[in-house]
Amino acid sequence: MVSRPDMPPFQAMILEDHEFQRKIGAHVLKLCGAEAVHEAAHGAEAIALLETLKEPIDIMVCDLNMPGMDGLEFLRHIGLRQSGFSVILASGMDASIIRAAEMMARSYGVRIIGIAEKPLSEGKLLPLILRHFGQSIVSPRQQTKPMPVNEIQDAIARLEFEPFFQPKVYMHNCALAGVEALMRWRHPTLGLIPPGAFIPVMESANLISDVTFMLFEKALEGALEWRAAGIDTSVAINLSVDSLVDTSLPDKLSKMVTDAGLHPESFTVEVTETVAMTDLGHSLETLARLRMKGFGLSIDDYGTGFSSMQQLTRVPFSELKIDQVFVTGAARQDVLQALLGTSVTMAKRLKLKSVAEGVETEQDWQTVARLGCDVAQGFFIGKPMPHGDVVGWYEDWTGHHKSAASSD
Ligand code: C2E
Ligand code: CA
Ligand code: CA
Repeated sequence: MVSRPDMPPFQAMILEDHEFQRKIGAHVLKLCGAEAVHEAAHGAEAIALLETLKEPIDIMVCDLNMPGMDGLEFLRHIGLRQSGFSVILASGMDASIIRAAEMMARSYGVRIIGIAEKPLSEGKLLPLILRHFGQSIVSPRQQTKPMPVNEIQDAIARLEFEPFFQPKVYMHNCALAGVEALMRWRHPTLGLIPPGAFIPVMESANLISDVTFMLFEKALEGALEWRAAGIDTSVAINLSVDSLVDTSLPDKLSKMVTDAGLHPESFTVEVTETVAMTDLGHSLETLARLRMKGFGLSIDDYGTGFSSMQQLTRVPFSELKIDQVFVTGAARQDVLQALLGTSVTMAKRLKLKSVAEGVETEQDWQTVARLGCDVAQGFFIGKPMPHGDVVGWYEDWTGHHKSAASSD
């Protein structure tokens, strides 16, 4: 039995013609925390059932080879209906066939969260189910009530947005590895507002690119200020799709960097898998050009998206940031440790620097260190802070970790 991380209760369905396999699947889904598991023996039955359910399902485990409407036809149907659930493909078939089915399903807009080989087990399904929740729980973007777009526009004009900076440190010697710029809104009456309340609004109102440049300008000022205080650190910024499809972005950023007398090698852009894979043509051009100019490229929130590693290897990333769902509390969760270990190993194989996000406690730190992660970021090391607090944090941190070498 695998220890189970906290997840909200969920509704599941298993579509499988073989009765014994279906029962195993239903049992395993229950073990994984499903509140209700609906069973269907073929595609038509599943579609009929889906229409009668009062509560929508979250997870569908789908066999591919079935008499009548097979799994492929079923996936096309649900893709066209834009069903909101995530699908796990269960099959005993050849990997190339499963891969083709997966690509077909994705092209129809079906959210595939993974492939599980039969016989199904808790160890195989649970990590995939976690991915489903990773996407909906983690994203702080969705959790906060959005602010009205006109207020955001006024606030941009009043220059109320600024970056906070969160440190990242090397695990082997505690030296500073860099800081990440995270946007905050210093609202005159509401106080500090987190990005979840305004970034998605900025994205949909096409405001994000301009604000990103303003933020980058402030990040450059910060970098110069810290340098003057003897801290030569690299700075990371987060990019949205809008910025990435702008193929002139690398030139603009690199001009800003050189104008400030700094080097692109001291800056990293972070993009999520989903962002990198949207409009792949343009994104690839921008990302490849950024890398050519010397910027670091980081895959953010790794593990919560749905792109395969094969897709990710097309982009010349230099760093892999493992999402906090796999990190925070990992010491007590075997499944999380297994997933973390796999991600770290993969990063090493691809020669990427691995960064664990969400290191909140000493136990988290020890767990990620034991698994061989290169860099840690999280509240245990330091919370995001205004630029003026970075020097104080640094002195404090290096004072407590005497072995901390100068940052490399
Ligand atoms: P992210 O890039 O994954 O940033 C990490 C988030 O995790 C930050 O939330 C940070 O405050 C939080 N965090 C860091 N350490 C810990 C920890 O130990 N425990 C916990 N529970 N949380 C931790 P924040 O600042 O609210 O930012 C949320 C998201 O907003 C960011 O996620 C990023 O996707 C987006 N964002 C922030 N600034 C920008 C920006 O300038 N541009 C764009 N496009 N997105 C941004
Ligand atoms: Ca980030
Ligand atoms: Ca992240």
